Amino acid sequence: MVWGVIELRRLTKRYGRTPAVDELSLRVEPGHVTGFLGPNGAGKSTTMRLILGLDHPTSGEALVNGRRYARLPRPMLEVGSLLDAGAVHGGRSAYNHLRWMARTNGIGERRVTEVLEEVGLAGVARKRVGEFSLGMKQRLGIAAALLGDPGILMFDEPVNGLDPDGVRWIRELMRALAAQGRTVLLSSHLMSEMALTADRIVIIGRGKLITESSVAELTSRYPSLEEAYMSLTADSVVYR
Ligand code: ADP
Repeated sequence: MVWGVIELRRLTKRYGRTPAVDELSLRVEPGHVTGFLGPNGAGKSTTMRLILGLDHPTSGEALVNGRRYARLPRPMLEVGSLLDAGAVHGGRSAYNHLRWMARTNGIGERRVTEVLEEVGLAGVARKRVGEFSLGMKQRLGIAAALLGDPGILMFDEPVNGLDPDGVRWIRELMRALAAQGRTVLLSSHLMSEMALTADRIVIIGRGKLITESSVAELTSRYPSLEEAYMSLTADSVVYR
């Protein structure tokens, strides 16, 4: 089994009658930043939750290194993720938050210091997370994702609400993680952001796969990535 592959096989999730994810088949491979794009409501977060076993598919399956997430012996060592940076206990310090995660996952405490340094939070490691800004919480969430040194990383809209420095930092980190041979899946509803970060693009709309392509292929077929995105998703925007 190849290290760090996400595979979706006709993945489907219905809430009531409308499918949030509809027969989605896809392979996400190592060594790339794959941008996972689609208008709001396209099914990106649901797909990520299904990959992480936080929700059960109605049919089809999501596999991580050939297994369902729930079957991974030590999931944090295979997949790191950040879905919602705000969902962290405010009363603990950053250090204690990560130490608790490390301990419950059989990861040594030295790694906590390493990841705090890697995300630039070493200086505020003892501060309560409740006092952190959104950008700092985002960095802490990324530190948690990196804790198990996993081959696969998934981030849901990681640049939302960040200042330009934070955005640039995330962009460079994602590219560095992919250059180390990891699989990086990054969701966004902004093609402009993905154009600077991703080298592969997956676009979904209404839960279905619209396009899976390299950035180079898209730019050769369309005048710009923005135009590619607008043209490919024109029928998929849902107005509510
Ligand atoms: P995206 O991340 O692309 O914005 P989502 O995966 O959040 O899209 O949502 C896809 C669709 O599924 C939307 O129509 C949304 O309203 C619906 N949906 C997501 N989660 C739930 C849920 N827990 N219950 C009912 N509908 C949901």
